[in-house]
Amino acid sequence: DAPATEPATEPVTEPARADGGPHMVDVRGLHKSFGARHVLRGVDLRVRPGEVAVLLGPSGSGKSTLLRSINHLEKVDRGRVRVDGELIGYRQVGPARLRELSEREILRQRTRIGFVFQDFNLFPHLTALENIVEAPVSAQRRPRAEAERLARALLDRVGLGDRGDSYPRQLSGGQQQRVAIARALALEPKLVLFDEPTSALDPESVGEVLDVMRSLAAGGTTMLVVTHEIGFAREVADTVIFMDDGRIVEQGPPASVLDAPREERTRAFLRKVL
Ligand code: ADP
Ligand code: MG
Repeated sequence: DAPATEPATEPVTEPARADGGPHMVDVRGLHKSFGARHVLRGVDLRVRPGEVAVLLGPSGSGKSTLLRSINHLEKVDRGRVRVDGELIGYRQVGPARLRELSEREILRQRTRIGFVFQDFNLFPHLTALENIVEAPVSAQRRPRAEAERLARALLDRVGLGDRGDSYPRQLSGGQQQRVAIARALALEPKLVLFDEPTSALDPESVGEVLDVMRSLAAGGTTMLVVTHEIGFAREVADTVIFMDDGRIVEQGPPASVLDAPREERTRAFLRKVL
C-alpha cells in the first residue's frame, strides 16, 4: 500500500459551484520537503470557480512546487488537494485512510488540469497543430478529424489561425507560448495553472501572451497564475496571493495586497518588482 497521508474525514467528491461554494481548488495543510529542505510549510489555498488567482513571491519561495503539487507532479508529504471537489492523487479507502491512485488514474485527473510552463514545453518535432491534437487523440481517444477541428478553433482563439503548420522553431517565443496555451485548453480543463508564462519571453512578446490570458480570464476560465507581471495582476486578478518561504503570507483583492499590503515581507517584495 502507498503510505496514507493525514486522516481523511470529508467526502471525496463534491462538485464546484458557480456561486463560489465548494472551491475549484482547495488546498489544505500542504507540506513538502526535498531532503532536508522544507519547501511547503503548511499551505492553505482556495480558488473559486471562474476566479483568476495570481501567486506572487520571491524566487525559491515554493510557488512552482505548489503548482506542481496541485496536479500531482509532486507528491506531497502531508495535506491534500482537491480540484472541483475531487481529491487529487489519492482515493479514500476508509474514514481515516487514503491510498495513492494508480498512474492511469492520476493521468486522467491531470488531463482536466491545464499546465502552461515558463519554457513552453512544445514537442519540437510536431507542428503547432499536431502539438494541440496530440493529447485529445492519445489521452481522450477523440477522432483525429474532430481533434483537428478543435485545434484549428483554438489556434484562431490565440491569434495563430495561419500558423498551424509551423514547427516550434519557426515561431517566436510569444507564438510558441500561445500554442502551448491552446494545447492546454484542448482537453477542456476545469483549471489552468500557469508557471511564469512570460518570464522566458522577450519584452515585445510578453504583451501578446498576456492578451490571450486576459481573454481566457474574461471567458470564465479558472486560472492560478504565477507571474511577476504586477500590471496583469492588478488588472485581471480577483485574488492576489503572496507566498514567502513555503507559506502564504497574505492574500486578498489586488487593491489590498498590491496597494495596501499588511505584511512587511509583501511590501519588501513589491518594492523590488514594481
Ligand atoms: P519558486 O517557484 O517559488 O522559485 P520552487 O518551488 O521552484 O520555488 O522551489 C522552492 C525550493 O525548493 C527551492 O529552494 C528549490 O531549490 C527547491 N526545489 C524545488 N524542486 C526541487 C527538487 N526537485 N529537488 C530538490 N529541491 C527542489
Ligand atoms: Mg518557480
